[in-house]
Amino acid sequence: MKFKHLVVLCIFIVLIGSFFACTKRGEEPSHMKKLKVITTLFPLYDMAKNIGADKAEVSLLLPPGVEAHSFEPKPSDIVKINEADVFVYTGKFMEPWADDVMKGTVNKNLIVVDASHGTKMIPGIFHDADEPVGSLDPHIWLDFDNAKIMVKNIVQAFQLQDSANKDFYEQKANDYSGKLTELDALYKKTLATCKDKEIVYGGHYAFGYLARRYGLKYLAAQGVSPDAEPTANDLIKLVEQIRKDKIKYVFYEELTSPKIAETIAGETKARMLLLNAAHNVSRDQVDQGISFFDILKRDLDNLTVGLSCQ
Ligand SMILES: [Zn+2]
Repeated sequence: MKFKHLVVLCIFIVLIGSFFACTKRGEEPSHMKKLKVITTLFPLYDMAKNIGADKAEVSLLLPPGVEAHSFEPKPSDIVKINEADVFVYTGKFMEPWADDVMKGTVNKNLIVVDASHGTKMIPGIFHDADEPVGSLDPHIWLDFDNAKIMVKNIVQAFQLQDSANKDFYEQKANDYSGKLTELDALYKKTLATCKDKEIVYGGHYAFGYLARRYGLKYLAAQGVSPDAEPTANDLIKLVEQIRKDKIKYVFYEELTSPKIAETIAGETKARMLLLNAAHNVSRDQVDQGISFFDILKRDLDNLTVGLSCQ
């Protein structure tokens, strides 16, 4: 073969190779291209997945079972965020690292959604002396009006990034918000019937929004972040409260050892029930395809038992 022919053959092979490489990387025609969305916490993932449906490829940054408050992204996570169309995080009080990561992004196409934008935030209980002054409770998704604002923030980013499917996303977001309205009504109706009005939590202060919304008292062993262990004094206070108010159940949190709740239950006659704040899900729950609504319905079932509601 002459050298000229060899060069032509080589160019041909390279072109064929790059054609297949491109096809493999998923460079479909623009109308088939899915929105690449990265979310930090499970509620945001569930919202984005439902709004985007088959038009978005949504992923959760937290690996299954990982505790959300102490999570920090790895370099590979930062690369993933840089390659996305939309990045959704809860807000600066939940992901204090987000600001720095965003400053370092080079992807000019990326739309960053602070899901807390426009939500009504409340001060949390901080047992941690290092907490900066003015910090607010980051568990905004456990107030269903706030959750609807979060849905709105997400859908706006999808519509900006993919205006051809604006109406599709709008409809999906409305469906999701409608389900939140129904769930809120069910919580309101059920929790209004409870004989006991006090949630004692052997975990961190995650249910401040929910308790406030439905007129319940909320006592937690830890502050808004589960980093610091409760002091002996914190536990003694909870045990005394349970004895004084004859509280029958102590709730424990998801994805961590329930040892705090066990200690409290061991000192009293209280039994234990799960109250899942839905920050993240386990590997099994991922496999089962659990939704944010599934978690919240089970929580209401457990609150119904734990607080003697009808
Ligand atoms: Zn939390």
